[in-house]
Order: sequence, then C-alpha cells, then structure tokens
Amino acid sequence: MLAQLGRRTTQERILRRVELLPSCGDASEEGCSIRLACVLHVHGIPATIYEAEPSAEARTQGGQLDIHQHNGQLALEAAGLTDEFRAIIHVGGAASRILDQHRTMLLDEPDDGTDGRPEVLRGDVRRILLDSLPDDTIQWGHKVTDASPLGDGRHELTFADGSTVTTSILVGGDGAWSKIRPLLSGAKPKYVGTVFIENIVHTYVQLNRSSEWIAGINFTDAVVA
Ligand SMILES: Cc1cc2nc3c(=O)[nH]c(=O)nc-3n(C[C@H](O)[C@H](O)[C@H](O)COP(=O)(O)OP(=O)(O)OC[C@H]3O[C@@H](n4cnc5c(N)ncnc54)[C@H](O)[C@@H]3O)c2cc1C
Repeated sequence: MLAQLGRRTTQERILRRVELLPSCGDASEEGCSIRLACVLHVHGIPATIYEAEPSAEARTQGGQLDIHQHNGQLALEAAGLTDEFRAIIHVGGAASRILDQHRTMLLDEPDDGTDGRPEVLRGDVRRILLDSLPDDTIQWGHKVTDASPLGDGRHELTFADGSTVTTSILVGGDGAWSKIRPLLSGAKPKYVGTVFIENIVHTYVQLNRSSEWIAGINFTDAVVA
C-alpha cells in the first residue's frame, strides 16, 4: 500500500496522516500494524488503526511468540521499546524438545539465551505496544467490510456498521483473510495439509491430516474434539 507514495515527497504524503488496518505485510509476528503505528509515532507521524475487535480485552492473546533478531526485535527497537521488550522475555521459554509418538527424545535444546529468538507472551508484547501509543490510535469495533480505490492513492473504507472513512495512505494487514489484500493481489490462504494443536503448556502436536478430517471435528464440544 505504501507503494502509492508517488508524486508528492514521501514526507509530505506521510504527514497527511496514515490510516492503518491491523498489521502490515511482514506478518511474521504479532500485531504488525500496531508496531508500524508505534514506529510512526516515535517519528511524530500520526496513524489510525481500525480494528474489528471491540476492545483490547476482547480476547486472550494466546500463547508465546519467539521474537527474532532480524525482524521483530528490529521493529521493537525502531519503536523505542527495547527495554520494555527485554523486561517481558520469558527466560528459559525458548527451550525446545521434540519427542516421537513413543516419547523417544528426538531433540533436546535447552534455552541458554543465545539463540537470538527469545520467547515472550503475546499478551505482554501487545501490551507494551498498546501502552506506547496515544489512546485514540486504535478505533476498536471497526470491522472493515470493503475497501475501494478513489484514485491518487486514496481509498474509501466501509465498516460493518455502514459508516465509511477516506484514507490518504492505507496499510492493510488484517491477517490471513485480509479485506485489503485483494487491492494488490489475488492470493488467498490455502490449507497445506498440516495442523498444529497447541495446549496450555505451550506444547504443539503436529498432524498431517486432510481438510475433510479437520472439518469432521466438532470443536464446540471440547471433550469430543
Ligand atoms: C499457533 C501459532 C503460533 C505462532 N507462533 C509464532 C511465533 O512463535 N513467532 C512468530 O514470529 N510467529 C508465530 N506465529 C505466526 C504469527 O502469529 C502470525 O504470523 C502473526 O500473528 C500475523 O500477524 P498479523 O498482524 O499479520 O495478523 P493477525 O495476528 O491475524 O492480526 C490480524 C488483526 O486484524 C484484525 N482484523 C481481521 N479482519 C479485520 C477486518 N476486516 N477489519 C478490521 N480488523 C480486522 C484481527 O482482529 C486481528 O487483530 C504463530 C501463529 C500461530 C497460529
């Protein structure tokens, strides 16, 4: 979306207020657009995030994330949040063990803090990002249902409640089923035949199963599922 920064100088266009949808293209770690808004904020560039969830507390944020040196940590540094990040690192959390179905240990990697991708809790990294932004940055409860180009790099966003907003610079990052991606690409998410089941102790079970097999599971019944 930033590719539309054509005729006017980059600085002039950016200072015209950046409109973001949650998360930008990188998609390698949590809340990419929140991090983009944090980086823009430390450079004095206002941004608005339109988020479908009704509030920051609407749902728990799931388990852990490893934050890599070559991308996630750089973005947090650019947002001026390195100290806050270091304070939420789960020491020992990057230890990995892989066992086969007979519980034979195939890999046992302790966490000596040198692998460059420490684990943090998703909720914690989201909190330090949100705490660093002005309160009105995120417009909660704004589910985008359509985005149409208006020319000259501008777009009209339509929300589920029928309201609309016009953007001068639009960064789309509304996850796998993005409403914005079709403006640039016909790519769609595709199931690749492998599913991970994560339990509360941050253990994943990897299963290679068909989508029909998954469709046959009744996820509304935790016991049966
Ligand atoms: C089980 C699991 C474990 C993972 N572990 C790691 C890991 O350890 N390290 C790592 O780097 N990555 C990990 N990932 C990958 C990582 O979580 C994703 O790559 C990342 O969350 C993608 O970020 P995103 O912001 O693009 O999309 P998402 O995290 O999916 O965020 C999309 C946001 O857009 C909002 N939204 C969606 N549609 C709309 C709409 N129409 N209008 C308004 N808002 C909308 C959603 O509410 C959400 O807030 C893991 C993923 C999974 C599933």
